[in-house]
Amino acid sequence: MTNHDELAGVSDAQQAAIAVVEAHAAHNYHPLPVVVSEASGAMVTDIDGKRYLDCLAAYSAVNFGHCNPELTRVAKEQLDKVTLTSRAFHSEALGPFAEALARLAGKDMILPMNTGAEAVESGIKVARKWGYEVKGVAANQANIIVAEGNFHGRTTTIISFSDDPEAHDNYGPFTPGFRAVPYGDADAIEAAIDENTVAVLLEPIQGESGVGIPPADYLPRVRQMTSDHRVLFIADEIQSGLGRTGATFQCDNVGVVPDLYLLGKALGAGIVPVSAVVGNKDVLGVLQPGQHGSTFGGNPLAAAVGLAVVQLLETGEMQERAKRLGERLGAGLRAFEGKGVTAVRCQGLWAGIDIDPKMATAREVCTNLLERGILAKDTHGQTVRLAPPIVITEEELEWAIAQFGEALADFL
Ligand SMILES: *Cc1c(COP(=O)(O)O)cnc(C)c1O
Repeated sequence: MTNHDELAGVSDAQQAAIAVVEAHAAHNYHPLPVVVSEASGAMVTDIDGKRYLDCLAAYSAVNFGHCNPELTRVAKEQLDKVTLTSRAFHSEALGPFAEALARLAGKDMILPMNTGAEAVESGIKVARKWGYEVKGVAANQANIIVAEGNFHGRTTTIISFSDDPEAHDNYGPFTPGFRAVPYGDADAIEAAIDENTVAVLLEPIQGESGVGIPPADYLPRVRQMTSDHRVLFIADEIQSGLGRTGATFQCDNVGVVPDLYLLGKALGAGIVPVSAVVGNKDVLGVLQPGQHGSTFGGNPLAAAVGLAVVQLLETGEMQERAKRLGERLGAGLRAFEGKGVTAVRCQGLWAGIDIDPKMATAREVCTNLLERGILAKDTHGQTVRLAPPIVITEEELEWAIAQFGEALADFL
């Protein structure tokens, strides 16, 4: 429910619109009190015509900007051609998308799905099947090692290995077969691996837990030990992938190639849900007709948008831009350390900023930023997360950093 203090400066029109949502949509989110009607690039406009700089970018689903003209053009063209065939037949659009995405990732093939959680579920199913059919794990004994503080989505199986009580509690009975170890601790993974381990599933950076960046040698060590023990390394790049971190994948930044990439969010450019598992034939080849599927997975509209996203990333401009602007963002935010900020973690255009609990909660800082015309989101009480669309201009970025400083000063 919207906190009544937060509604103080909100117009009657927006309060009325919020009341309708609260009456008729389940309260599984806690949105800030702003009702958006349109958006372009890094800017969104509310129903009163006030403009905001979007510093969340729909959790990185809008990496390439709202209503990116090239991407919406492709979507509109496809809308008038064919949008759904189901996989009972071939569509003209799927092949080029699959080929291009596999090439971008340096892999053989993709398994197209819709939401991020479906990509994670699909990765888990493929890893288990690979374990039984290729590695030779005894029936129903497979285990997958995950990290504490993970966020991989909201399905029953995925929340079974979440340690966030809000995500997990009262949804049991839970799916067995997962072992959680502390994030960033490669030795803990090595100690947890046994002959029934089929995969290690990790976020290269933990987004929802507050942009947690592991030690530089973590993922390289995980890659080495998973290869040594014949265990699949699955990188959930649903939020970290596709330009956000200043590279195509965060794994690129640390020189690691996983067995499977899980992609989503920006793959559909914020236009349609598009997700995928990307890997080589020796792993994804375990799937035979009838063994997995999705009515909408790989549909022509999704494939057309996904192909356009891949083509955008092939030039490397977005990755370069996220890297360059991200350096400025990190430096700008680090200047506030000690001034109401206790820590800043930044990789590319993706920052987690810990607010001094003696000063304010992250939610209070985000509410202040909203009044200043910046959309940002708190996570886990004390962290503000900033992840603007990569198309943000330098001037917009400088303005956001300055406003962040002003917001902090309001509490000091
Ligand atoms: C958002 C997210 C998911 C889940 O994606 P949905 O499309 O919301 O199902 C999974 N993993 C990570 C790392 C994410 O950020």
